[in-house]
Amino acid sequence: TVKSRGRNGFDFFDPTMEAKSLERILLENELRKAIEQKHFQIYYQPKMDISTGKLTGMEALVRWMHPELGVIPPNRFIPIAEETGMILPLGEWILHEACRQNKEWHDQGFELKVSVNLSARQIYQKDLVAMIRQTLTETGLDPKWLELEITESIFVKMEEATCVLQQIREEGIQISIDDFGTGYSSFSYIKSLPVDTIKIDASFIRDVHHNQESQAIVKAIVTIAESLNMNVIAEGIELSDQVEALQQNGCGLGQGYLFSKPLAKSDFDEYLRMQ
Ligand code: C2E
Ligand code: MG
Ligand code: MG
Ligand code: MG
Repeated sequence: TVKSRGRNGFDFFDPTMEAKSLERILLENELRKAIEQKHFQIYYQPKMDISTGKLTGMEALVRWMHPELGVIPPNRFIPIAEETGMILPLGEWILHEACRQNKEWHDQGFELKVSVNLSARQIYQKDLVAMIRQTLTETGLDPKWLELEITESIFVKMEEATCVLQQIREEGIQISIDDFGTGYSSFSYIKSLPVDTIKIDASFIRDVHHNQESQAIVKAIVTIAESLNMNVIAEGIELSDQVEALQQNGCGLGQGYLFSKPLAKSDFDEYLRMQ
């Protein structure tokens, strides 16, 4: 193989790089097939009222069930789906499936809100609002039982994103900011965001039971949220000490392995019957 040295002394023909892009091409092709053949499953992770232990809803988390490679986690393919635009058909399928499933649970008497993650790419998709409206009509789910989770990364085009979120909320759907505190979060911009809930990023929860800075951050987010009439939820709770620290700092909602891992539909069915 030919190797040439770049101006900065870096090898710019790097065989491991070539291998990576090959793997990437393969994965991209596999993903395209998977979307056509619907080789995905939605897992559901419970969201709790942490003082009563009552289930309030669940987050829909997609998994790719590859016939040979097994379960592929979203961190490995959502970025590819976003870059290639495949997130649009995939995201539509996820939303439809989560709404359809939640309607089924409602028909069985479980009054729960389902939260579906939306990519930035989807926010800037033309006709997103029409697609969501149609999905709700088709599945028969009342919009008040749907929440969409977005991240701060969508606010690169602040005005456009705000406008889309406003339209979504006018439909009666709720919006939550995911991974809050890791992006551009600034207290000056948060007041103008059309959101219902702030989800405190897991990085602040990890050490909240023994780190005063994390406690201070949780407390500050809770205070701001209260004054803006928003709800707060903590993600990534693994320990009961963390629950205690969260309660002490005014955060009453949570999600994490302590309560339950994301569950396949049949396991979530069982979980519901145990509640
Ligand atoms: P996210 O929306 O912030 O979801 C939380 C992630 O943390 C999930 O990983 C969940 O399984 C994991 N998690 C929950 N509780 C705990 C805990 O106590 N400890 C630890 N260590 N982890 C916990 P998952 O399912 O692998 O998803 C990763 C990310 O992929 C999500 O982060 C989200 O950004 C993206 N994603 C997942 N499903 C979808 C989807 O349907 N659409 C889009 N656009 N993105 C998705
Ligand atoms: Mg999420
Ligand atoms: Mg998150
Ligand atoms: Mg995340």
